[in-house]
Amino acid sequence: MKFYSTNNKNISVSFKDAVVKGLAPDGGLFYPESLPKLDKSFIDNLPNLSLAEIGFEVSKLFLGDDIPLDKLKEICDDALNFPTPLVSIEPNVYSLELFHGPSCAFKDVGARFMSRCLSYFAENSDKKITILAATSGDTGSAVAHGFLGIKNIDVVILYPSGKVSQIQEQQLTTLGNNITALEIDGSFDDCQALVKKAFQDDELNKHMKLSSANSINIARLIPQSFYYFYVYGQLKRQNKDLVISVPSGNYGNLTAGLIAKQMGLPIKRFVASTNVNKVVPDYLETGKYESKASIQSISNAMDVGAPSNFDRMMTLYQENHPKICADLKGASYSDEQTKEVMKKVYKNSNYILDPHGAVAYLGLKKELDAENEQGVFIETAHPAKFINIVEEVIDTKVEIPEYLKSCLTKEKSSIKMNNSYQDFKNYLKN
Ligand SMILES: *Cc1c(COP(=O)(O)O)cnc(C)c1O
Repeated sequence: MKFYSTNNKNISVSFKDAVVKGLAPDGGLFYPESLPKLDKSFIDNLPNLSLAEIGFEVSKLFLGDDIPLDKLKEICDDALNFPTPLVSIEPNVYSLELFHGPSCAFKDVGARFMSRCLSYFAENSDKKITILAATSGDTGSAVAHGFLGIKNIDVVILYPSGKVSQIQEQQLTTLGNNITALEIDGSFDDCQALVKKAFQDDELNKHMKLSSANSINIARLIPQSFYYFYVYGQLKRQNKDLVISVPSGNYGNLTAGLIAKQMGLPIKRFVASTNVNKVVPDYLETGKYESKASIQSISNAMDVGAPSNFDRMMTLYQENHPKICADLKGASYSDEQTKEVMKKVYKNSNYILDPHGAVAYLGLKKELDAENEQGVFIETAHPAKFINIVEEVIDTKVEIPEYLKSCLTKEKSSIKMNNSYQDFKNYLKN
């Protein structure tokens, strides 16, 4: 299958080129030229399939021409090897916990899949690939872990100084090896702008082979559709319709869900749940899209004022506002509302939400018709990643998973940099 630029259908490349380039040369995002339809027998058989098996069946429709099937099977088995339990919280409300991978965030799914695809392509390449990734918190560590120690690949992570949690920062800055962390004096949007500019810099791209591991990379987007199929199979459906709420920042997670729906997965609708950075809920309400500067919140992985996957959502719905509104509702919450519901859910259901999952829970409760529907919200991060906030809010100690514990005692190593493009470019060239 070919992938074209969301800016120009005439720019179309193979999966390999789309993965290695990350962004189309005209600044657009790569998008599949067609969405394969899955037949009813596949949907009916979902309860019998593991996440890795689903991954293989879905990804071969997109990548079957570019990666030999036995290799693709290996990539799926290896990337999707951690549990993704669907946990019952209250009648008709479930949490899909995607935080049991090595970085304790849902981005492990996409990052692990992508890194294995790229290493497959890099094995047969003479030039080193440098991966650039801007992170608002979790991307960085998921990407860094995915690529740690992989031959022919260097990773440069950009993160906004002082705007990620301490655990997140430790995860980003203590790996060493082929991973470098740049601590940027600026916002996440500044980091993302630096990365975008580097990709469009012809001179720099002659000098080195750059690739992106942000949620803009198509090899991260595709695997994020797998767990929607998985949820559908795991849920005891009782003939009720399914509503899924997705805590959203750059909207890669949600876009992948919308793609799964268009591929034939019977999901009634989605909720785009977010914090005060609500440009997408505003778009859904008014039909007008206006990017804004991001505002800091306790669900910081969603502090995004110019969501990079918005163009893909528009491509998916042909910019048809009524059509997208039929499939997608918007919801946005303040930090106070987020904390309040964390407290309430802990008290009533003894379940610890992280701030992102809490926002998704709120969005689900707003949109769910609990009489006739079943709801799933996506828990994107382990609560221990936001331990200070979570412990303060629920007034209880949170257990830290072993992996997180070990990175807390390691020494931080980052390169401080202001947000000037020239400095960033000079750094990359040297
Ligand atoms: C990245 C992230 C999000 C937002 O995901 P998008 O695909 O960018 O919308 C939500 N929660 C957590 C914990 C994240 O790390």
